Amino acid sequence: MTTATDALTALASRAAALDAADPLAALRDRFLLPEGVVYLDGNSLGALPAAVPAALEDAVRRQWGTDLILSWNDNGWWQAPQRVGDAVGRLLGAAPGQVLAGESTSVQLFNALTAAARLRPGRPLLLTDPDQFPTDQYIADSVGRLLGLEVRRVPARELAAALAADGDRVAVTAYGPVDYRTGELYDVAALTAAAHRAGALALWDLCHAAGCLPLELDAHGVDLAVGCGYKYLSGGPGAPAFLYVAHRHQDAFDQPLTGWNGHAEPFAMEGSYRPAPGIGRARVGTPPMLSLLALEAALTAFDGVDTVQVRAKSVSLTEFLLECADRLLDGLGFTVATPREAGRRGSQVSLRHPDAYPLVQALAARGVIGDMRAPDLVRLGVNALYVSHADVLAAVRELREAAVSGEYRDERFRRRAAVT
Ligand SMILES: *Cc1c(COP(=O)(O)O)cnc(C)c1O
Repeated sequence: MTTATDALTALASRAAALDAADPLAALRDRFLLPEGVVYLDGNSLGALPAAVPAALEDAVRRQWGTDLILSWNDNGWWQAPQRVGDAVGRLLGAAPGQVLAGESTSVQLFNALTAAARLRPGRPLLLTDPDQFPTDQYIADSVGRLLGLEVRRVPARELAAALAADGDRVAVTAYGPVDYRTGELYDVAALTAAAHRAGALALWDLCHAAGCLPLELDAHGVDLAVGCGYKYLSGGPGAPAFLYVAHRHQDAFDQPLTGWNGHAEPFAMEGSYRPAPGIGRARVGTPPMLSLLALEAALTAFDGVDTVQVRAKSVSLTEFLLECADRLLDGLGFTVATPREAGRRGSQVSLRHPDAYPLVQALAARGVIGDMRAPDLVRLGVNALYVSHADVLAAVRELREAAVSGEYRDERFRRRAAVT
């Protein structure tokens, strides 16, 4: 055990030095985290930003409670989907007027994929990743059935070759920059360019990218993008998702869910649909105001923060996490599933272990929250706004203890809850 103790001491002083030199360290105060908890599941549900409770209190008591329906005008409720969309857009490298906040990622995907296919009529193929998050695959299949398109699953690493071979038949490529299981990172710029060379549109699902990677949607010529508000953006459980439609596609953007909020004159109450100009046409029904205002307040945690700095810290955290895993988990049955090359890694580290589920439960009982993705991944996500190197070391140290002690074999850690 002396070697493990020595390794721990050395790692603890490295963590302290890295945290002392961290230019983003003070951002942690913009979040309300429980004492004694290490939170490495911000890639599933972001922590609570300190600005949110007061914003919600105001939204409920003053805006709803006192101003009542006048709030749609007087408190800017009607403009909120576009306003919050622009706030998200600042983190995506998107100029104003191209991002709309609302609905869930699944709904936005359905609208965006269908609209993309309609922008490329006569092309019978829709490409998506067999390792994409399930909802992305389910929605793609449904859009395929609806429009009579073939949905072909091509792994992201083979996408450029598939486009070079068969690209003139492809309407749209629908991929995520980060594999939600392994954390592998793909090149948005290069794959977007490959889609464009084939005359196809590139649609990106940014759920595991928005808020942790310096995205440049405008600069890279991305056509469409979607993503959720509750992961790295920390907008709260079920927070509104977002949709990006590049300016050049907006006039022809023809989404299937033609709800009254997207009408050119919603209060004219006309009997047939005429889309609003600009990104406003991507609205569907009445927006969930409390959730939108919570997301808006949550995004203030990014005020003055440069996503390049966020990425630099995220890389440092995952690098250090891998180092801790190498030193402390050796011989305990773990293997690293995440690429070791920083440029090929998102903001998480995934470790394979046959007992991933009970280990994650035992870890939570020790105050370290990560999650498990079936069948065998321990997934540890780092949000650079509130995770420190000391947190990362504590997480790996506790994971080691949970594994060495064998406590994870306890029956109570094996019972599967509804959400894993
Ligand atoms: C989290 C996630 C979703 C979630 O979709 P919802 O409709 O918001 O539940 C979709 N796609 C990806 C890639 C995700 O990571």
